[in-house]
Amino acid sequence: MALKIVDSCIACGACEPECPNNAISEAFGTYVIDPNHCTECYGFYATQQCAQACPVDSCVEDEAHRESEEALRRKFHTLYPGRALANTERWSPPDGMSERTG
Ligand code: SF4
Repeated sequence: MALKIVDSCIACGACEPECPNNAISEAFGTYVIDPNHCTECYGFYATQQCAQACPVDSCVEDEAHRESEEALRRKFHTLYPGRALANTERWSPPDGMSERTG
């Protein structure tokens, strides 16, 4: 599942430089996440960097883009052919999304 940025965003921009996938951009006075590029930080970090950086907890699970760990792995390899995964043994999905299929 990709993450999304909700209306409580204060447009501080703290999240944008933290994304390893350059999935976050500014648009119309707020920030948005491209679900085609968000891997939930899978392949890079153990936790979701944007959610950690956000001071107002505006980076949350995007229920419209549910993905299993295997789907995130495939997305990573599609985005970065030949690149080695990192930190997958410690990776965990956002809170509340530990049990998923699909
Ligand atoms: Fe980027 Fe990770 Fe946030 Fe997805 S969860 S938008 S990959 S920082």
